[in-house]
Amino acid sequence: MSRADVLDWMRIAGYHADMRTFLRLYTENRISKRVADEAYRTGTRQKLAGMRCMCHECTKAPTSTTTGEPEK
Ligand SMILES: [Zn+2]
Repeated sequence: MSRADVLDWMRIAGYHADMRTFLRLYTENRISKRVADEAYRTGTRQKLAGMRCMCHECTKAPTSTTTGEPEK
């Protein structure tokens, strides 16, 4: 994953209030805490603003189970 991809996933984790995924991304990638936290907060703000999530889990067929895990 590129750095931009990681930040996208961190934002999506924030959108889903998925701290577990966020911490895993933070642990596995060399992203500064400040930048990582900002990406998470951006996702939280987008959720509160009623924005539609564009992540794989939210855009695929609604009958599928949701794991909250981003794909590698
Ligand atoms: Zn989503």
